[in-house]
Amino acid sequence: MELGATLCTPRHPACGSCPLRRLCRARDAGNPQMFPVKTARGKVPRVTCTSVAVRQNGKWLLLRRPAGGLWEHLWEFPTLGRSKKDLSPTEIQRRIGRMLGLDARVQSQDIRLRHQLTHRRMEYRVFAATVIRRPEKISLPLCGPGRYEAYRWVADLDEVPVAGITRKILAEVRSNLVTRRHGKIARLAGV
Ligand code: SF4
Repeated sequence: MELGATLCTPRHPACGSCPLRRLCRARDAGNPQMFPVKTARGKVPRVTCTSVAVRQNGKWLLLRRPAGGLWEHLWEFPTLGRSKKDLSPTEIQRRIGRMLGLDARVQSQDIRLRHQLTHRRMEYRVFAATVIRRPEKISLPLCGPGRYEAYRWVADLDEVPVAGITRKILAEVRSNLVTRRHGKIARLAGV
């Protein structure tokens, strides 16, 4: 018999018909509906970060997260660490350039995404960037908060294992690019 689903329901425990009634301390205490005691849920911390979807010739730059921590060994768009204030596209361009040794132009679109995990609420600012000059090799930060262990240019996210948020980011960036393109065509056409 599934006691929790049949007799010992949270609001109306049927103690009179319960085979455990002689052993039950909640019933002895006279207030079985108060058990089990619910623990107060801690506040889920909010983590903010900035991801930059860098592309060149139809390929996206992905970086592989290191072992340990969140999303280990999964690939993601280059992501800057936490920042107390919103960074300007110029500042993001400077930081991405410094982080990866890459000359890329960050577009001024500013997409905001939320991603709920069990223990934290992630808030992303997302930018798209195009490479102006691609170096022979991307230099990866091998230590510190923005540490990565590998990089790869991919045409499709299915080429590597990624977290759900990375797909969400790409979908938003693509839709934003299409909207901007249509806006541009409409402006050129004088619509
Ligand atoms: S006796 Fe105890 S276990 Fe049985 S229904 Fe009542 S509270 Fe639940």
